Amino acid sequence: MTDFYQTLGVPKTASQDEIKKAFRKKARECHPDRNQGDAACEERFKEVNQAYETLSDPEKRKQYDEYSRLGAFGPGAGGFRPGAGGQGFDPRIFQQWQQQQGQGGASFEFGDMGDILSSLFGAATTGRGGRRRRPAAERGADLQADVTVSFDESLEGATVRVPVDKPDTCDTCHGTGAAPGTTPKICPDCEGRGVVAQNQGPFALSQPCPRCRGAGTIVETPCPTCKGSGVRRRTRRYSVKVPAGVKDGTRIRIKGKGEAGQRGGPAGDLYVVVHVESDDLFDRRGDDLVIDVPVTLSEAALGARVRIPTPGGGHVSLKVPAGSRDGRTLRLRGKGAPKLKGGGRGDLLARVRIAVPDKVNKEQKELLERLGEALPDPRAAAFG
Ligand SMILES: [Zn+2]
Ligand SMILES: [Zn+2]
Repeated sequence: MTDFYQTLGVPKTASQDEIKKAFRKKARECHPDRNQGDAACEERFKEVNQAYETLSDPEKRKQYDEYSRLGAFGPGAGGFRPGAGGQGFDPRIFQQWQQQQGQGGASFEFGDMGDILSSLFGAATTGRGGRRRRPAAERGADLQADVTVSFDESLEGATVRVPVDKPDTCDTCHGTGAAPGTTPKICPDCEGRGVVAQNQGPFALSQPCPRCRGAGTIVETPCPTCKGSGVRRRTRRYSVKVPAGVKDGTRIRIKGKGEAGQRGGPAGDLYVVVHVESDDLFDRRGDDLVIDVPVTLSEAALGARVRIPTPGGGHVSLKVPAGSRDGRTLRLRGKGAPKLKGGGRGDLLARVRIAVPDKVNKEQKELLERLGEALPDPRAAAFG
């Protein structure tokens, strides 16, 4: 660390404006874009940034001046190395100053300054070692796929193959978009930066380069397979475990199986929406299943034990109590659908349906007539 004023080449009395001007001039001189891979230059660039970071903030500058007076930084000229104990330098006071600056204040990452400088100069800067700084990594988009399972599969669970149409790297050009034997060229408009400066007052704003659409490169001879996009849509088949008890509309998230990320970003997720076919016998209601149980009038009136199907192909004996009205629902605990969360099963709800014959023969007709005469008038009870 050297004297910050000296680093920027300004007097201690410099105004904020003078400091800003000096910083921009110095930063341009040792900007990594102009000195690709020059380590000494990169070091100087960091120093200039650090000096500016402190002196451009009036509060930090005040603290710096204060500690400077107490001897935290040693005599201005010639710089100082922590621990070297140069004349007038007090390491304890320097440490105090460092603490006051906080961890992030006295040290910074080179990449952060790159971002600040892009906004200052309207250009993407290069990273460590002069490598061109790429636009930020981007997470891939999430994808959705639909799958239909049978009612039984929804109760028992199933492994299904889900076709997913998604963009993939073109095999022919390996994603460059350039025809085999050719390579994409650096975009002349933005010189590969992917952004162009748009001067507006003292600061330059950067915007994506219209010619290369931010890619930094242009393809002169497009790949015949993907027509220069570098991308091919392709159907991938994923094996997806559908858990027992899945309901119609349940979404299953499969991490990382969405679209690929851009520039090293993570892939998106795949959401599989499960549709469940309806069943002839059972209706799903939450974790419960509902089944209609036809009974005769005499079974409903006198009570009966009837055999009814259960999901999955089994049967169970249901006790219909005497005097059951049409629509009465009887609950069979634990015979419903498996619960997705917490384990166990819902209930089977057996709904009593009194069956009325469509057609009757002579004997049945006589019997029903006699029964009708023997039974009390139901409307007398209902309407009074
Ligand atoms: Zn291609
Ligand atoms: Zn461009």
